[in-house]
Amino acid sequence: MTKLDTTKSQAAFKEAQQYMPGGVNSPVRAFKNVGGDPLFIDHGKDEYIYDIDGNKYIDYVLSWGPLILGHADDQVVAELDKAVAKGTSYGAPTLQETELAKIVNKIMPSIEMIRMVSSGTEATMSAIRLARGYTHREKIVKFVGNYHGHSDSLLVDAGSGLATFGINTSPGVPDDLAYDTLTVAYNDVDGVKKLFADHGDEIACAIVEPVAGNMGVIPGTQDFLQTLRDVTKEHGALLIFDEVMSGFRAAYHGVQSLVNITPDLTTLGKVIGGGLPVGAFGGRREIMEQITPAGNIYHAGTLSGNPLAMTGGISTLKQLTPEDYVEMDKKVTALTDGIKKAADKYGVPMTVHHVGTMWSYFYNGDSINNFDDVKACDQKLFEKCFWELLAHGVYVAPSQFETNFISTKHTDEDIEKTIAAFDAAFNAATK
Ligand code: PLP
Repeated sequence: MTKLDTTKSQAAFKEAQQYMPGGVNSPVRAFKNVGGDPLFIDHGKDEYIYDIDGNKYIDYVLSWGPLILGHADDQVVAELDKAVAKGTSYGAPTLQETELAKIVNKIMPSIEMIRMVSSGTEATMSAIRLARGYTHREKIVKFVGNYHGHSDSLLVDAGSGLATFGINTSPGVPDDLAYDTLTVAYNDVDGVKKLFADHGDEIACAIVEPVAGNMGVIPGTQDFLQTLRDVTKEHGALLIFDEVMSGFRAAYHGVQSLVNITPDLTTLGKVIGGGLPVGAFGGRREIMEQITPAGNIYHAGTLSGNPLAMTGGISTLKQLTPEDYVEMDKKVTALTDGIKKAADKYGVPMTVHHVGTMWSYFYNGDSINNFDDVKACDQKLFEKCFWELLAHGVYVAPSQFETNFISTKHTDEDIEKTIAAFDAAFNAATK
């Protein structure tokens, strides 16, 4: 196995574990799934990150998606510098909030009104409350392997960290709440129809990642998403597209533009904060106007819409163009095709998926449509190749249940180097 000197990261992790559970502030960062210690990052610039031992990596995690312009983009940094000098938060309205709301509305017209929050978790949690308040119903529908953050109602059969650690739901989630969350397999059209036929009148909303990114990348089929739109409408339930990850990632205008389906509500996060803590939920005016203080469904936040997060988002979205997505898509296509070709060369069973700037690879040659398919992948091979990739200067998500990304800063040369690293990893792992 190729060796990498991570002595300082290992010492830092040991110390961190004394003070923070598992040494981290979010579980997948701990690298538990790949059986080793995480890297401690010193800094990032463009498509690269540098660990505290001085190793340099091409980064495809990009802070789990937000950094679509890469690390420390010059313009984002300059605008944040200006903003921070004016004060970090006032707890009063600012012009930046309306500016970001207008930009989002222009790119995703279904978001007629928006409410800014500080994380994707808050966005989905608040959207669920809004759906329940608006419909006066309590049950919600979610899909196995979709992850919508860590609020109680949504921590049932979830992807991401729960999938990585093999947890169905979490201790501490009241049974009564979990009981109101009905789950169906992703892309299961008949399952959706049956669930709504049996419980349709009790269901407040269905929440879905229209391109799933928390069990690797798995696109929702057109039939599945259209069925969801149809049955929710028929039964008076709301349809929530959770585009916290896919928004400004799967496509410039979101997955809703790819499938030509208008959800009632959309949740956003990640890219709209440009790397600062942000989330948002929005949608049809008539529904959004039920939120306090326009209506009486409660939502609030000390740092909601704070000027730094708004500036990070504005500066990021203003720089992005639809052409950037064409370019990034081309690069991801070359990358995933190259990885698949290398896998074939070594007889490694593999399926690659990508939608826009989101991509993942599965150590399984069969088609991958849902959570069970991902669970059947070769975990041991994933682990071996992961460490080889790191040793070759390529930083990918440390779990098969996560998505990789690309930024506008990644070059054709990076793609070639990454394919060569996968080739070397497959070579080492199959010896
Ligand atoms: N929804 C989706 C689709 C996500 O991918 C995530 C996080 O990865 C969340 C919600 C939760 O966002 P946050 O981690 O900002 O709370």
